[in-house]
Amino acid sequence: MNALYDLTPFTLLDFPDTPAAIFWFVGCNLRCVYCYNPDIVFGEASISEQEALAFLKKRIGLLEGVVLSGGECTLYPNLIPFCSQIRKLGFRIKLDTNGMRPDVIASLIALELIDYVALDYKAPDSKMAQICGGGSEKRFWESFELLKNSAVAYEVRTTLHPDLLSEDEIVSMAKQLKHKGYKGEFYVQLFREGNNTIGHLASSSRRVDDQALAGYVTLRT
Ligand code: SF4
Repeated sequence: MNALYDLTPFTLLDFPDTPAAIFWFVGCNLRCVYCYNPDIVFGEASISEQEALAFLKKRIGLLEGVVLSGGECTLYPNLIPFCSQIRKLGFRIKLDTNGMRPDVIASLIALELIDYVALDYKAPDSKMAQICGGGSEKRFWESFELLKNSAVAYEVRTTLHPDLLSEDEIVSMAKQLKHKGYKGEFYVQLFREGNNTIGHLASSSRRVDDQALAGYVTLRT
């Protein structure tokens, strides 16, 4: 079974303190209008597990980790055995996830197959349909609680397009995170224009008010 749309052989930016490769899994259970990766969300897998593992075998001693990204990698039916294989080769694993599959996250934690998670906090529930085409904030919180109560390092992040979420909504999300016991940085990635997105989004004429977010989030441009 082919697993990956593509792989990025080397990154120093996507896995904290870990030289890594990125595995891009096809498909997603959301349709975020700002998604930069429609080719991956709607694409077909062309790289098999065996090819990906063969690549990693050649990188033993050169890379330390693998980022599982996409798309939404928790949809991949063979993810757990695949992670076990990656582990056996000695690599650390980071998961990029939209948090809509807490059951899979629970299994990965229980089996000690992940070392770091970047968890998307997409939007308040009232905005999930408009921004993500579905999903639920409840499932995000289930994933959040699993990670909070585990030994796995994690971060929470969101993407901000000024026409989709207001500064007040972002501050409210930050307060919710704090209220639920989140101690880390809440990373906010500003929407970058010039990409092909699922919703064919244009950039906003409205500038984000940095001052309104100061003290609540860490902006990533
Ligand atoms: S941005 Fe949204 S649609 Fe795109 S891969 Fe992430 S969760 Fe899926």
